[in-house]
Amino acid sequence: MRKGLIALIFNIWLDLMAEKGCAPTAEEMADHLISNGVTVRKHGRWLQEGNAVYMWRHNCSLCGDPVYNKIKPYNYCPNCGAKMDGEENAEK
Ligand SMILES: [Zn+2]
Repeated sequence: MRKGLIALIFNIWLDLMAEKGCAPTAEEMADHLISNGVTVRKHGRWLQEGNAVYMWRHNCSLCGDPVYNKIKPYNYCPNCGAKMDGEENAEK
């Protein structure tokens, strides 16, 4: 993953340098990375909040969206798509 990403970034950077004759902007790099399928995966966790009305309510730590009545909620947030492995901003 890391090696492939470095090669991709390097190749895009070289292509844009050759095309423009000067260093590409972060925006241009981002556009090319996205067009090559690179995404930024968000990491979050479920914040458990049981009470008398909503047993086992869990809120997404990123978007705050609640999920009700599941003792083990999804391993991703159905609202914002965050992966629920409890490592916010983790580098993978
Ligand atoms: Zn969420």
